[in-house]
Amino acid sequence: MTAPHSLIYLDNNATTRVDPAVLEAMLPYLTELYGNPSSAYRFGKQVDTALETARTQVAGLLGCEPQEIVFTSCGTEATNAAILSALSADPDRQHIVTTRVEHSATLKMCETLAKRGVEITWLGVDSKGQLDLEETRKAVRADTALLTAMWANNETGTLFPIDALQRIAREKGVYFHSDAVQVAGKLPLQMRQADIQFLSLSGHKLHCPKGVGALYINRKTRFSPFLVGGSQENGKRGGTQNVASIVGFGKACELAAATLQADAEHVRVLRDHFEGRVLAEVTGASVNGDPVHRLPNTTNLAFANIDSEALLLLLDDQGVCCSAGSACTSGSVHPSHVLKAMGHSDAHARSSLRFSFSKFNSLAETDHAVAALLKAVAKIRSL
Ligand SMILES: *Cc1c(COP(=O)(O)O)cnc(C)c1O
Repeated sequence: MTAPHSLIYLDNNATTRVDPAVLEAMLPYLTELYGNPSSAYRFGKQVDTALETARTQVAGLLGCEPQEIVFTSCGTEATNAAILSALSADPDRQHIVTTRVEHSATLKMCETLAKRGVEITWLGVDSKGQLDLEETRKAVRADTALLTAMWANNETGTLFPIDALQRIAREKGVYFHSDAVQVAGKLPLQMRQADIQFLSLSGHKLHCPKGVGALYINRKTRFSPFLVGGSQENGKRGGTQNVASIVGFGKACELAAATLQADAEHVRVLRDHFEGRVLAEVTGASVNGDPVHRLPNTTNLAFANIDSEALLLLLDDQGVCCSAGSACTSGSVHPSHVLKAMGHSDAHARSSLRFSFSKFNSLAETDHAVAALLKAVAKIRSL
């Protein structure tokens, strides 16, 4: 099955379309250039050179040194690796501070560790999805191994105050990890000016194929590998690298860095146009999350007294893709843990949809999506 011509894809926080230039960069590494990058002969060395170019490209987007980038299989692995490494650094620090609105990569890891005896402090959020910094400061203790908080929320787009959080971690002398999967390619990052030990990234959220990610590890930070095996990735991650995907990831980061401001402006215009029209034309519609400190591409909207699953299916009938909750939890009967943590009722959470835009969306698509939404809402309300 191919994507129908009329597909209007507004679920770019779940995954993104592969940029044709990314695919083009990858193809040689899926065909002629199949050498093992760890091999000693030139046919292998040539592939290793491509890996290192990709590392430099990813570092370019993050504003860090190439040797601070470790390639992983996905964003989830990067986050798992950061958390486990922080815990193994000091046996007397077996406490983690995190938030109730994290992606399942962090959430489930921490729940699993809690069962093994690691103490977890779960920070709540206010109605905008924001943390209380005083509460955060109090939660970080002398025996805390790690403060981990996402940079941008995948469901609402809410941006956490990363500057303040890294300051708290530094003052208290604990490691800070941020899941930056939703920020990379959307907002500028400058890791050289930051005080962050670990940062997680994922390729498929920025127009690279699925199955590749990266963990930024500050060069001054001790790291214990999560995947143990060969000495790939400077001994920080065993296993022969997914070369083609890494090359694509590098290209995607290079492209994102080159057009970051323009892309952010493009999606902001579309998002604001969409959101503005929906709020004006759909009675009972409201925005979830922080309207100011928010990703430029994301809007999470509640539609009073409408079942979001039904709405999603009617939109699907019209070729519009969006999300109820995160992709990882949709299909389940549970209302979004993010909206619940913000104090919303189950009913409110179950009437909310996320629309997320990318550089490949157009204004015409945005208007088509509004029309489809108006039709779907009218249909549900007429029943
Ligand atoms: C998608 C996503 C992840 C997981 O990345 P994968 O590469 O799919 O494992 C982690 N965190 C956030 C915020 C995400 O949106």
